[in-house]
Amino acid sequence: LNPVLSPEPLETDSEDRALRPQNLDEFIGQAEVRANLKVFIESARRRGKAMDHTLFHGPPGLGKTTLAQIMARELGVSFRMTSGPVLARAGDLAAILTNLEARDVLFIDEIHRMNPAVEEILYPAMEDFELDLVIGEGPAARTLRIELQPFTLVGATTRMGLLTTPLRDRFGIPTRLQFYTIPELDMIVSRGARLLGVPAAPEGTLEIARRARGTPRIAGRLLRRVVDFALVEGDGTLTRAIADRALTRLGVDHLGLDAADRRYMTLMAEHYGGGPVGIETLSAALSESRDSIEEVTEPYLLQQGLIQRTPRGRMLAQGGWRHLGLDAPKTAQG
Ligand code: ADP
Repeated sequence: LNPVLSPEPLETDSEDRALRPQNLDEFIGQAEVRANLKVFIESARRRGKAMDHTLFHGPPGLGKTTLAQIMARELGVSFRMTSGPVLARAGDLAAILTNLEARDVLFIDEIHRMNPAVEEILYPAMEDFELDLVIGEGPAARTLRIELQPFTLVGATTRMGLLTTPLRDRFGIPTRLQFYTIPELDMIVSRGARLLGVPAAPEGTLEIARRARGTPRIAGRLLRRVVDFALVEGDGTLTRAIADRALTRLGVDHLGLDAADRRYMTLMAEHYGGGPVGIETLSAALSESRDSIEEVTEPYLLQQGLIQRTPRGRMLAQGGWRHLGLDAPKTAQG
């Protein structure tokens, strides 16, 4: 995947911290999610209790981590962050849980990738704020119960379907994040340009918004690259022409699709007559992991109506044929 277009975090994203919204009012888009969180945060503050455990799900780069940080800030508590794959042993999670202070927010990214042994100790921790640790082995083993401070677990996942039912059921507030609309992304890009001190024409920010794949992380990254072009090849102003030239050079087309997206759709069109074709077949033919195709490539193509998921496999939709500049075969339904 073209790294500039990847919705996954990159090393260079640390510089994006300047663009990260710090509170709910600065957070653009996801209006319904924001309105609900506002109520739950305010209610928890008034009651002086830990807020209910919250689960954010949706494609990468839509603001799950950002919202978790904002929750902690608005609740006036500390923010601790870890991720499913990092928590190898139950002891790793126990160490974090026992260090939390009352009402703190613990954020676990990629919570669907947690080891079952770790998940096991999370259940009583979430439900009763208790930790059951087994000390010793064999006949001498005994269980030690540790009381925890009440805390808020915020989980994030790109794959709701991979969460176990007992874990999913323990979240009081499950929240789905949607792709952003172009006007929302335009506001995010304009705000970013302002924070970077770059003069921007409205048509320039709109061009980036249109090609940001519905994803704020990509919008921020494209903005930085367009600013590079504006400085070196223009007069420093972000114009539509500069944005178009920069994005075309980066291989980002008018819908925001990159080479990997087009390879995926072209493969379906040229080798499988538009499908249906199974995910394993696509994964093998593209040499891409199934996870990456399902979590990163497909959600946006589905949302744009370029492909369809059917029980028999993926199919190129009419919009997909059109985008590739090809005619759909007569039999293709889309
Ligand atoms: P996720 O955890 O869903 O992968 P992040 O919370 O890390 O996504 O957000 C990715 C990037 O996008 C961050 O740099 C963040 O500043 C930016 N971002 C996310 N949502 C918004 C938003 N609503 N407004 C402005 N910037 C946003």
